[in-house]
Amino acid sequence: MNIGEPAHLNLRNIPSVPWPASHGTASRGVAEMGAANVSPSVAGEDCGIRAISFGGGQQSTALLVLAAQGRINFRTFLFANVGDDSESPATLRYVEEYSKPFAFDHGLELTELRRIMRLTGLERTLLQRLEMPESRSIEIPVRMGNGAPGNRACTDQWKIRVVARETARRGATQEHPALIGMGISLDEIHRAKDTNPIPHQRKAYPLLDLGLRRTDCQRIILDAGLPLPPKSACWFCPMKRAEDWQNLRREKPALFARACALESTLNDRRDALGLDHIYLTRYARPLAEAIPDGVDLLPIFDEADGSCDSGWCMT
Ligand code: SF4
Repeated sequence: MNIGEPAHLNLRNIPSVPWPASHGTASRGVAEMGAANVSPSVAGEDCGIRAISFGGGQQSTALLVLAAQGRINFRTFLFANVGDDSESPATLRYVEEYSKPFAFDHGLELTELRRIMRLTGLERTLLQRLEMPESRSIEIPVRMGNGAPGNRACTDQWKIRVVARETARRGATQEHPALIGMGISLDEIHRAKDTNPIPHQRKAYPLLDLGLRRTDCQRIILDAGLPLPPKSACWFCPMKRAEDWQNLRREKPALFARACALESTLNDRRDALGLDHIYLTRYARPLAEAIPDGVDLLPIFDEADGSCDSGWCMT
């Protein structure tokens, strides 16, 4: 496959990695945040294992292309799949039809990881966990009555720990940590923080190091001859924007109906526990009412919508 080089980025003048920590606005931005455990792709750091946290979205796919072009020093991509019944079907289809063949054609490793329960050795998907009748907790960031997202365990348990277990299996230790590249682009620099430090891992932000925005990622993907991947997230993720829910209702009505049923199931359980209702949108109404059929809602801009502040989802 012929991988075009995006002319407007002038990548020809960007040195190949290891990339000096001191260059460019993006790296300075990360340093100024003062976040602990944030590590750009620095030279000389003792990182035998280098892997990208692959989410199946546009930033991750751009990193795949950049790796194929030798522009970033990563050859391994780890995709923590929270469940074939939980991830967006469109994302899973894209990964199978485009990401995996592209990685294979360019000698890159793209490995899919699952959450395996230690006791049984069986996979436990996020949706299975949510639908367990005896469950008292809700792992996803459901919205409370005031619209704010609640606490979540999904990113930690189904993504961060799954990747951490794999890097440990490959030999990463506190003394010799793995370097995990995150797909955070310059327009989402606020997501570049370490809320779940893993002692045997350090983080790097290759897109920030290269000063690339989401639109640059799109250009990189298209110039490589790949179609743009759809937004990646669980189909029931409460962090989605209203327009994403509207698209789901219009384009995948059966999946939208499943999301409505899941919200209802969670609230039935909360009724039994004497707890107040939760919602999958910020509108404090059942999903089917909050996202009316055929009616476009005015966009509400809120940082909590449409992203994941951990940087492990939606990349
Ligand atoms: S996409 Fe949303 S629901 Fe899925 S793991 Fe990430 S935060 Fe949780």
